[in-house]
Amino acid sequence: MKLIFLGAPGAGKGTQAEVISEKLSIPTISTGNIIRAALKNGTEMGLKAKEFIEAGKLVPDDVVIGIIKERLAESDCANGFILDGFPRTIPQAEALDNMGIIIDKVVDIEVPDEDVVNRMSGRRTCKACGNSYHIQNKPSKVEGVCDSCGGELTIRKDDAPETVLDRLNVYHEQTEPLKDYYEKCGKLRIVEGTKPITEITAEILKVLED
Ligand code: AMP
Repeated sequence: MKLIFLGAPGAGKGTQAEVISEKLSIPTISTGNIIRAALKNGTEMGLKAKEFIEAGKLVPDDVVIGIIKERLAESDCANGFILDGFPRTIPQAEALDNMGIIIDKVVDIEVPDEDVVNRMSGRRTCKACGNSYHIQNKPSKVEGVCDSCGGELTIRKDDAPETVLDRLNVYHEQTEPLKDYYEKCGKLRIVEGTKPITEITAEILKVLED
């Protein structure tokens, strides 16, 4: 299964990708996590991306397309993968097509803008592995500590309310047109993202069957 999870920031793509990834035994590839790791490690790519990510803007297409090309060539992607946060623009989707990658389904997790701002203020992210939590909807077992790796949970700089509004605008302008792009080839499946996490997972598994 080669899947794309689409949706506004905070729609729950990462949370759902984590669960579905395990159920289907395929890796999740999050461009956001890859970029944040590069930033933390001070690599050249991280430095290039810094000003964009911190301002809530998109990192240039050529940079993220390069990241994805390299990552998808790794052996663990041979039987499928979930793309979380890629593609985010039409040129990125076209680049994926030009790589000869046939996507099976695109799951669009829909959440109203008002909910996004509230969700982001409660989001906590693991500094070490990038896993996401929410202080109410998905708390870690021990406050401030990642369940998966024991890493420290922090608030992402770009989850600040003023940056979230910019990210939402970027989503509507540059990423939302992808719904149409994938609808036209019959791959789009829409899931309502405001239900409890387990119900959304069940719905995603259902739409992947048809
Ligand atoms: P995310 O963790 O998916 O919310 O991504 C965080 C930030 O990383 C975004 O606001 C962008 O600055 C950058 N980013 C992640 N994926 C992409 C992408 N596919 N294209 C451009 N920028 C991206």
